[in-house]
Amino acid sequence: MTPIEKLLKDNRGWADELKSEDPEYFQRLAKLQTPDFLWIGCSDSRVPADRITGTQPGEIFVHRNIANLVIHTDVNLLSVLDFAVNHLKVGHVIVCGHYGCGGIKAAMTNHDYKYVLNMWLRNIKDVYRLYSKELDAISDEENRADRLTELNVKEQVMHLAKTSIIQRAWKEERRPQLHGWVYGLKDGLIKPVFNMDSHSAIDPIYQYDDL
Ligand SMILES: [Zn+2]
Repeated sequence: MTPIEKLLKDNRGWADELKSEDPEYFQRLAKLQTPDFLWIGCSDSRVPADRITGTQPGEIFVHRNIANLVIHTDVNLLSVLDFAVNHLKVGHVIVCGHYGCGGIKAAMTNHDYKYVLNMWLRNIKDVYRLYSKELDAISDEENRADRLTELNVKEQVMHLAKTSIIQRAWKEERRPQLHGWVYGLKDGLIKPVFNMDSHSAIDPIYQYDDL
C-alpha cells in the first residue's frame, strides 16, 4: 500500500468509526458551520488548531501559513479574514505561533532560501529589526528565537488591527477580539502573549477616520 492509499484507507476507517458512534454526525455537520473563532496559525504539521484546543469540526475557521504571518497584500489571508469577520461574524481572531518554528529560525539566519521563501521570510526579518535591541541582548539562540516568536505574534495581531476589515467591525459591532498566542511543542501548552479589542489604541497613521 502506498502512503497515499493508506491515507484514503484511514479516512474510510475514521468515517466508519464516527458513524458507528453517532449515525447522524456527518448529516448534522454538513448543514452549517457557525464557528466563533478564526485561527491564523503556522503550517507546521505539529500544530493542528482543533487538536490542541480540543475543538470539534465546525468550531474553528482556519488559515495557516509559514510562521503565521498577516501580510496586507496576501489576498488569501484577507479573503479568509473578510469572510470570517463579515459573514461568519466570529467573536475572536487568534494568531497562534509556536516555539521551535522553522520559519522563525530560518529568518534569523543569513542564508539565501531563494526567491519566494526569501520574500516571505523578509517579513519576519522586519519584525527582528523592530526589536533588534531587545533580541540582540539575548545570547542564547533558542531563547532569542522564542522571544522573536512572541514578538512576531504581537506584530501580526497589530497588522490585523491595521486592516479596514477589523476597524469597521470594531466600530460597528465591537468585535472581534484579537488574541496573540504561542504554542509550546514541548509541553503542548498555549501561552497568551498579546491581545487587542475594539478599545485598543492603534497608531494614528493606521486609523481610518471615514469608515
Ligand atoms: Zn512554524
